[in-house]
Amino acid sequence: MAITAERERSGAATGRPGSVVEWVYDSIYERLMSLEIAPGARLPIDLIARNLDVSQTPVREALSRLETEGLVRKAHLIGYSAAPQHSRKQFEDLFDFRLLVEPDAARNAAARMDEDALARLDAMACDMSQGEAPVDRTSRYSRFARTDAVFHDEILKIAGNAVVRRAMADQHVHLHLFRLLFHSRVTQEALTEHEAIMDAFRRGDATAAEHAMREHITRSRGRLMLAFE
Ligand SMILES: [Zn+2]
Repeated sequence: MAITAERERSGAATGRPGSVVEWVYDSIYERLMSLEIAPGARLPIDLIARNLDVSQTPVREALSRLETEGLVRKAHLIGYSAAPQHSRKQFEDLFDFRLLVEPDAARNAAARMDEDALARLDAMACDMSQGEAPVDRTSRYSRFARTDAVFHDEILKIAGNAVVRRAMADQHVHLHLFRLLFHSRVTQEALTEHEAIMDAFRRGDATAAEHAMREHITRSRGRLMLAFE
């Protein structure tokens, strides 16, 4: 399942064995999202293990998980490398797909919204605007990307079409789009747009929800287009 933010994240500081994988995953993930690890760069397991001062097992597990998310690739005899950056065509295709699916899903979600669902979305929107004061810009950005993915997935879940939800999840849209451009403007403006979506949900206004989602995705496309200029 692609929804990485739903996974248990609280263990990283507790020293439990499973949390080593989490921690290794997070540190590679953040460096991929911030482009500190360049698209296409090799990811030698032994080197990463040495740099992070862990054994190779958690590195292997973390890379395998990142592979299922499409952020790294594994080639026979070569090993892992960071996935290449999306082309402009892939970028445009992804946004066309989002515009086909998400405004309609927001409309349906507004019609099916209940208090529990609204509270979950509210918590995510709140997490994106404040977070738990992540230590640095890199963490903040990668965390935003992850929570945004869950926020949009939750709306698809509430909308109720499992086929559509699965199709979006399979694209790992947010991971690829956020990796295009490491910039605070990407996150700041999105917060205002999310608030417009939430406002429509609170009022149970399906037309406004559809409109606000279309606006958010269209503006998001404009922001990220900078990566190709
Ligand atoms: Zn968003």
